[in-house]
Amino acid sequence: MDKLFPHIPFSDDETPLSWAARQAAFHTGGRLVPFLKDLAVSPRDLWRGEPEAIESLCARAGEDTERVLRNNILAITPHLLQLRGEQFAADFTTRSETQFCPICLKEDRQNQPRPYVAMLHRLNWRLSHVRTCPTHNVPLHSVNAGKTSGHYYELHAMGDAVFEARPLKPRSPSPLQTYIESRLDGKTGPEWLDGQRIDYAVRATELLGALIVFGPNQSTTKMTPDMWDHAGRAGWEVSTNGEAAISTFLTDTISEAARKKRVVGPQNSLGVVYRWLAKAKQPADFPLAEIVRNAIVENMPLQPGQSVLGTQVDRPRFRTVASVASRMKVSFKTLYDELAAAGYVDPVNRPTGSAVLIDTQKTPDLVEALENSLSMNEAADTLMIPQPFLVPLLNIGSLERLHQRFDLSGKVGKQIDGRQVQEVNECIERVVAIVGKTPRNYVDLDAAPKACGTDLPTLLHLLLNGYLSKAKRKDGTHGLKAVLIDPIEVKDLLRTHKFRIDYKQLRMVSHD
Ligand SMILES: [Zn+2]
Repeated sequence: MDKLFPHIPFSDDETPLSWAARQAAFHTGGRLVPFLKDLAVSPRDLWRGEPEAIESLCARAGEDTERVLRNNILAITPHLLQLRGEQFAADFTTRSETQFCPICLKEDRQNQPRPYVAMLHRLNWRLSHVRTCPTHNVPLHSVNAGKTSGHYYELHAMGDAVFEARPLKPRSPSPLQTYIESRLDGKTGPEWLDGQRIDYAVRATELLGALIVFGPNQSTTKMTPDMWDHAGRAGWEVSTNGEAAISTFLTDTISEAARKKRVVGPQNSLGVVYRWLAKAKQPADFPLAEIVRNAIVENMPLQPGQSVLGTQVDRPRFRTVASVASRMKVSFKTLYDELAAAGYVDPVNRPTGSAVLIDTQKTPDLVEALENSLSMNEAADTLMIPQPFLVPLLNIGSLERLHQRFDLSGKVGKQIDGRQVQEVNECIERVVAIVGKTPRNYVDLDAAPKACGTDLPTLLHLLLNGYLSKAKRKDGTHGLKAVLIDPIEVKDLLRTHKFRIDYKQLRMVSHD
């Protein structure tokens, strides 16, 4: 196999494609693709960073393969790339765009007879988050040379764009860009950023910055390279300090929004960050997503079961009074007045009612009890008994009104906790055996007090605590009205045990 002569040395800051294109310009005076084909090297393989393609080019050119491979961006899949051990999504690199610094290229070709042999396409220009030339402190230019030629980032394909480009207003590289470059050089940086994939670290920083600089409503698709650069600088101030600093920043941002908005939500407080993460294919992969989700869950009212960045929140910490009232089917005012009178809600600085929040951590179980509460009518219907039957159940503590546990003194306080109603029904199903027909001498609960010589609360207490092992219900019947009691069993029990109902002590039956 003939060696290419003379040897065109690889430059340590250029891409393998750039070096191949310069050799094409030298040896043929022409373009990259026909040159590679003449060498039997597949242009697509070289573009994908296949090591075999680089090895074979190096063999023909007499170049050290390791040097060239160090600058090789390998496509592990079309969507996941790798450079120097760092993996990142394809959009971490430029795609159809070719970035360059006009001053670098001008210096390259100065006094050179063949500019396309002299001009290097730098490796860091391939990184889409690198936007400033670190040598000349000017923004990089970006040319879209079209799908075919652009894919090879071949300066020869850019035509006059390269020669006519004038330096833009100087700026120094952002600290985020410097971080990218030094991480790819193997240096360590801030811990939180180093602990994640490089593209996640960079994206997180820029998104936080976009929120800081442009506010929650900014659309990422409408951001120019200059805006991203600006965002990266602002976000760096936060992300460089790690998880706690990000969390504090997000919480402060939510509080600030809460002062201005009726109801604070992910969109109107963290919009630009939240929307980007919500659209990500796997938000769980982004360390930023978990911090954002925690900030939302800890600071914003949510609906039970609401999904926040891929995770369902079954029991939100904060609820609005309006949403609880709506689930209870009572008016906002009815609920609010009782909660406010008891000090369960803090109406300070809340301009309108619907924004009033309940903090479920301050009063555990209040919201669940409210949302499961039933009126006397509803409770009686659920148990399939006449309303007067509820009184003995309340007396023995199997049922409670909300005011017994919470300091609520109106219509809401009178409601019964529906979860206890459910427990009574489940208890009956459990302790009462099913029969085909009514056994001899058995009576229902209406007739039982007279037949057994005791009162209804005592009978219910015995029944729900599992003392009446002979109690039955007919197949297909449910609820308290279906229960049939053996008066002989009750009388025997009352003779041998002293059952004194302590109404204050008694609570619902145990469920072990
Ligand atoms: Zn430059």
